[in-house]
Amino acid sequence: MASLVGRQLIVFDFDWSMADQDTDRWIFEVNAPDLRRKMKNLKDEVQWTDLVAQSLREFHARGGKREQIEEALRTMPFHPAMVRAVQNLKAGGKTSFLCLSNANSIFISTILKSKGLSDLFEEIVTNPAEWDPNGLLKVRRRIAPDAPYQHQCKVGCSPNMCKGEELDAFLERHGVHFDRIIYVGDGSNDFCPILRLRSQDMILCRKFRGLERRIAKEGEKEGLKCQVRYWAGAWEVEEIFGSL
Ligand SMILES: [Mg+2]
Ligand SMILES: [Zn+2]
Repeated sequence: MASLVGRQLIVFDFDWSMADQDTDRWIFEVNAPDLRRKMKNLKDEVQWTDLVAQSLREFHARGGKREQIEEALRTMPFHPAMVRAVQNLKAGGKTSFLCLSNANSIFISTILKSKGLSDLFEEIVTNPAEWDPNGLLKVRRRIAPDAPYQHQCKVGCSPNMCKGEELDAFLERHGVHFDRIIYVGDGSNDFCPILRLRSQDMILCRKFRGLERRIAKEGEKEGLKCQVRYWAGAWEVEEIFGSL
């Protein structure tokens, strides 16, 4: 079967999909648990990307350092089997990789660099971020609240980004035909993009998290067409990638 597939695209969510933790929460759990608690308390009132940006400003204002954030990112749980899985698939030559994440560009690039994976992705579609010279990490929404274009998502993506629209836009930008798309995700916001997948495509859904619950509850009703495979540990993703 594998030989029938010419080009394939692997789409990765980042937190709890490629990595074994959530970057936005982890850096505060490591460096400022009280800010982590505050985020939990405020998450239904403040849009998530804004809340991360605000928490980073508070951390910086009390003397929190860039090095502390970078060290937390580099030591965040990340399964060695995931590194092997993507490196082996990339070496095979027929696979392109896209990252679609609600984290931010600095968190993701810092971690990828620490794993030797800086060149893995063709594109990383996420919230923009930059270090200012004083060591404050400035994070912005991918779609600003006052931007002329706001996404049209009907299945509940956060205002900062619709992963479904972003996947469609990537495919259009690249103009390459992919015989198969495989999406690796865990969260409820990964449900929108997988609705756009075809019957020959596949979702590798991490167990016990929001996406599994949404597929069970809404998959049939929303017309989910792709194949669904479940995994819990990255070693299982490595196993599946090995069979592609
Ligand atoms: Mg995730
Ligand atoms: Zn959406």
